[in-house]
Amino acid sequence: MERSKFHVKKGDTVKVLAGKEKGKTGKILKVNHKKDTVIVEKINFIKRHARPGGKTRQGGIIEREGPLNVTNVNIVCPRCNDAVRIKKIVLEDKNTARACTACGEILDR
Ligand SMILES: [Zn+2]
Repeated sequence: MERSKFHVKKGDTVKVLAGKEKGKTGKILKVNHKKDTVIVEKINFIKRHARPGGKTRQGGIIEREGPLNVTNVNIVCPRCNDAVRIKKIVLEDKNTARACTACGEILDR
């Protein structure tokens, strides 16, 4: 299992807790441990000027997901259907997994 200092990781469904996208949910596409940010699918679109050359010869403005601070997102429990606190539990095979503190649902499968 990939080690992470974050409470969330790539592939998690998360809810945005602060900022202009507050309340929206999406899947984490990318985690940046150096900058403490995550990229969440279809959240926080920002306009960027594409550089001419390379793959996009035309250049111009493109829209793509911008980074969110990792502290502003929280994992969504599929059973509670909301952002929840997580706890670490030890499974029968001695691996640790993240579980919902509210309902006990294991969030690492
Ligand atoms: Zn739950």
